[in-house]
Amino acid sequence: MSGIDSIEAATESLAAAIADAETVVALTGAGVSTASGIPSFRGDGGIWEQFDQRDFHYRRFEADPEGFWRDRLDLREAFYGGGETEPNAAHRALADLERGGHLDAVVTQNVDGLHRAAGSETVVELHGTNREVECVECGHRLPVEAAFDRAAEGELPPRCEGCGGVLKPAVVLFGESMPDGPTIRAHELAGRSDLFLAIGSSLQVQPAAGLPARAQRSGATLAVVNLEATPVSDRAEYDLRADVTEALPALVEAVG
Ligand SMILES: [Zn+2]
Repeated sequence: MSGIDSIEAATESLAAAIADAETVVALTGAGVSTASGIPSFRGDGGIWEQFDQRDFHYRRFEADPEGFWRDRLDLREAFYGGGETEPNAAHRALADLERGGHLDAVVTQNVDGLHRAAGSETVVELHGTNREVECVECGHRLPVEAAFDRAAEGELPPRCEGCGGVLKPAVVLFGESMPDGPTIRAHELAGRSDLFLAIGSSLQVQPAAGLPARAQRSGATLAVVNLEATPVSDRAEYDLRADVTEALPALVEAVG
């Protein structure tokens, strides 16, 4: 059997498993967003070769929110892209799968907000999102562009209109502890899935790295869709080494 035939056969078989499963949960990582032009954060050509991590440190935000926001304005185009990145075929395929009743939730390591932009409704963002800001006092969220616009008009740092608290990017900064809520929810979802899809993640970073094992301990079937091998590929029932922007649309089509 050629490699292509075996990928097609695995796709058909996985599609049947998706159609049969009661609860399907997908975990996504950087590999899902690279086709949208979002570079990965680590490694060669990664974001942290281009930007100084210290500008994204929680200590910097806490010590000097005004300076932190002035830096954000300088980085607005280069880092935040002016909100111009678009979902790709992989994001759209997952949104289609949910609309068709075959996917219960997307848990993502990505902070680009592209799953929601593609139409996915149940999305757990483990590391938060760059598309929103959050009041440090009351937790109220608003789109990042609104905070940028106010900062650009001189409101430094921009503050919550409700309580006056300082607004912070709704993303986990360096040195900031992970919020418990999304991690707990992700573990709960993994635990009650009967099919768990790990897509475009190298599964090297916690808490995401622990989710496939959590799902398998609860009896879920595990499928990995990634260009390269992951630490759990050997014990996955399905191991599709493929480009996610091709594999996922093919999978959705096969599910029907
Ligand atoms: Zn507030």
